[in-house]
Amino acid sequence: MATEEKKDFIREMIVEDLEKGYCKVPITRFPPEPNGYLHIGHAKAICLDFGLAKEYAHLGAVCHLRFDDTNPCKEDIEFVNSIQEDIHWLGFDWGEHLYWASNIFDFYYDCAVALIKKGLAYVDFQDRETMRQQRGNLVTPGIESPYRHTTVEENLAYFEAMKRGDYAEGAAVLRAKIDMASSNMNMRDPVIYRISYDHHHNTGNSWCIYPMYDFAHPLEDAYEHITHSLCTLEFENHRPLYEWVIDNCPVPARPKQREFSRLNITYTVMSKRKLRQMVEEGHVAGWDDPRMPTICGMRRRGYPAKAIVNFCEGVGITKFNGNTDVARLENAVRNELNATAERRMAVLNPLKLILTNVPEDFEEEVEVLINPEQPELGNRSLTLTREVWIEQDDFMVEPPKKYKRLSPGACVRLRGGYCMICTGYTADADGKVTEVQAEIIPGTVGTNPPEGIKCKGAIHWVSARYGVQAEVRLYDRLFKDEAPDANEEGFLASLNADSLTVLKNAMVEPALAAAPAEFLCQFERIGYFVADRYDHSTEHPVFNRSVGLRDSWAKMNK
Ligand code: ATP
Ligand code: MG
Repeated sequence: MATEEKKDFIREMIVEDLEKGYCKVPITRFPPEPNGYLHIGHAKAICLDFGLAKEYAHLGAVCHLRFDDTNPCKEDIEFVNSIQEDIHWLGFDWGEHLYWASNIFDFYYDCAVALIKKGLAYVDFQDRETMRQQRGNLVTPGIESPYRHTTVEENLAYFEAMKRGDYAEGAAVLRAKIDMASSNMNMRDPVIYRISYDHHHNTGNSWCIYPMYDFAHPLEDAYEHITHSLCTLEFENHRPLYEWVIDNCPVPARPKQREFSRLNITYTVMSKRKLRQMVEEGHVAGWDDPRMPTICGMRRRGYPAKAIVNFCEGVGITKFNGNTDVARLENAVRNELNATAERRMAVLNPLKLILTNVPEDFEEEVEVLINPEQPELGNRSLTLTREVWIEQDDFMVEPPKKYKRLSPGACVRLRGGYCMICTGYTADADGKVTEVQAEIIPGTVGTNPPEGIKCKGAIHWVSARYGVQAEVRLYDRLFKDEAPDANEEGFLASLNADSLTVLKNAMVEPALAAAPAEFLCQFERIGYFVADRYDHSTEHPVFNRSVGLRDSWAKMNK
């Protein structure tokens, strides 16, 4: 069976549907509206819809990519392209199955006419407010519209007139005739067609009536012979309407809708509207700003596609709406990068260290070795020179007791190279240390110093002669509150002012300048970084921090 460990109620249902013969091949669809970029919530739906198609590929299963573009609006080719790119990047493919909901306006129209002919739909000329009042509420049944009993012939003529453009926007709608007393508000004669004179990117001005989502979606599914139409929980009480449409329209197949919980993540907002607002108001640099929960943002941040898929699969498919800890996502990224990212050395805040007991032109190749199980992650040789850059944090004049780094008189190792003893330092008028001096202990490359000298640890370094200056962008969480959506002053009030720190003077291993864009690596002792997809070049290396080595927020909260 294809569904090895992945088990959830949807997958169980499909196993049963295959056994009982509801379908021979599961066909799913992912139906984004091309009005924004995909986010990590969409990734969850993608992993389910496209994941199922992969799991049942041996039966010929496929997942359709359907642009849900039944609303008239300008085509935004930017969104259409980005959606396709992101799905591919995540590792999924729709093959030949790319559809546009706007390609079958005739079909929806024919279905609407069929409903009218059955006496199951009518044109209502009341204004919106009146219809709203007539809907009633959960305890009060609705009031039937006076247009509910118009004859079939009249309704056909009115609907034809709607289509012809005889009426103004809002002057008439087509409603399904279901049950104004239904306990399900969606069944109280819902509107299924409305008038709009807006331009449609695909059909131009050939239509001025447009189907509502609840009417169009089941018809799209049926038209494409979708077997399992999987959506998020908020559509659960739309399911009776979905089934009503399928039951009463002349459809070529009988898809079924099932709902699962949407993904929400702490310290994040997920709605496209809010993400768009952040882009438009300039709170972030764009949809692909590395702090954004968009797929392209995460990609630019250096989150591997595999980590995102692993995370989505780990969260699983359930019926319970919850808020997933963003630390889980960061952990998935860390785990993936720990296993795959090459190790390099970079100094973010450089401090000059001079090895005073070697000659001016001293050069020695030293082997920097990674843990023995993963030599491919960066066993390499680097040139040690008399002057090297070390991290400002790795030196203290008056260190606390357990400090394992450099301080006057202390011995530490230059990673992969010699143990050395700090012999002095230079400070400016403000007391800021500007240079550190040390003496190497000969013969200590790869071995311990002689008896009596304790090497406290190893620090990373970059040769001052061969190192390359780089820009490093330290990204942190975009929001400082766990639930920005719950902020009474609005989600923007939760923005983390320190979510981006740019360091212009970092120094990196020479090879890193030549690294291709999107090269992922661990800066030893610091975190995981990626060469920026757009801004990185050999002349101007730029690295983005993907995630720290450990969860610093968890530590802070304690
Ligand atoms: P948003 O609410 O962010 O604007 P949307 O649901 O309007 O998103 P669509 O383009 O309509 O965006 O979504 C395409 C598919 O992705 C839908 O089937 C939807 O159910 C699914 N989806 C959207 N957001 C999430 C989420 N947070 N978790 C799981 N699935 C989601
Ligand atoms: Mg939507």
